[in-house]
Amino acid sequence: MDGKSMIGAIDIGGTKIAVGMVDETGQVLAQLECPTDAHQGLQDGLERMVNMLRQTAARVGGTLQGIGIGCTGPVYPRLGTIGNVEFLPGWEGANLVKEISQAMGVPVAIENDADAAALGEWTWGAGRGTRQFLLVTVGTGIGAGLVLNGKLYRGVDGSHPEIGHHVIDPCGPLCFCGARGCWESLASGPAMEAWAQANHPEREWFSARQLCTAAEEGDPLSQAAVQRTATYLGIGLANLVTLFSPEVIALGGGLLQSRHLFWPAIEETIRTHCGLVPHERVKVVPSALGAQTGLVGAARVGYHLNATTDERR
Ligand SMILES: [Zn+2]
Repeated sequence: MDGKSMIGAIDIGGTKIAVGMVDETGQVLAQLECPTDAHQGLQDGLERMVNMLRQTAARVGGTLQGIGIGCTGPVYPRLGTIGNVEFLPGWEGANLVKEISQAMGVPVAIENDADAAALGEWTWGAGRGTRQFLLVTVGTGIGAGLVLNGKLYRGVDGSHPEIGHHVIDPCGPLCFCGARGCWESLASGPAMEAWAQANHPEREWFSARQLCTAAEEGDPLSQAAVQRTATYLGIGLANLVTLFSPEVIALGGGLLQSRHLFWPAIEETIRTHCGLVPHERVKVVPSALGAQTGLVGAARVGYHLNATTDERR
């Protein structure tokens, strides 16, 4: 035991749960993961998370100061509970904060995973030192978190604003959120796949990743799908620039791995849509933490807990 201080991190996603130990510089010291398998029940999930916490903590051998959890919403940070999360059937109402705190004997905090990631990027990544920072993650959905003057932005009752579901085209596809043509329904990976499938049913379409690869190889239909997605990404980002004029917007997530396919349309849309704000001073940059964003963000939620109680109001 060398007395090294560390925070436990739990990143709960639709397919896997990642658990790790992170130090105060945002370095992941040890990590493990397992399939989410929510249908096996809450108790089973809790046991797996606690076991992975114990294993990673033992591997590092430091002093566990607290634990942070990032989980796709709805989650209720003040209560420590999760709501009706689509991929966690039967877990609704579970108080993960209380359960894990009791098992591990340290304070625990939970946030929406988009907020957790934004806090992580603001502290240790692309948002360092900024006063207004937005992280937008584009993959199977679009998640966004906003850090203003060093504090996570919260809505009424501590709610997480769903920037990924603001409406771009009211005649667009119906989303599970209730709206038509919200950002996620037009610019996420599945939205790109659905558009390609609907418009060219004669072709055998694959994943968003494969569409990006085909576009890079010069396939015109894949290029059209990518171009459309890039334009909608650009419109959503231009709306954020007009609404917030932040210092930095960082973009992450699986879809933007092929950054060069999307960036020109994004920059062009911001340039032509945001005439009333100093858009040229808004930096749109890739996120810096990459594949570790979820885990590091969750750890930052643990540090956030220790920072000041006021920050969590
Ligand atoms: Zn929606």
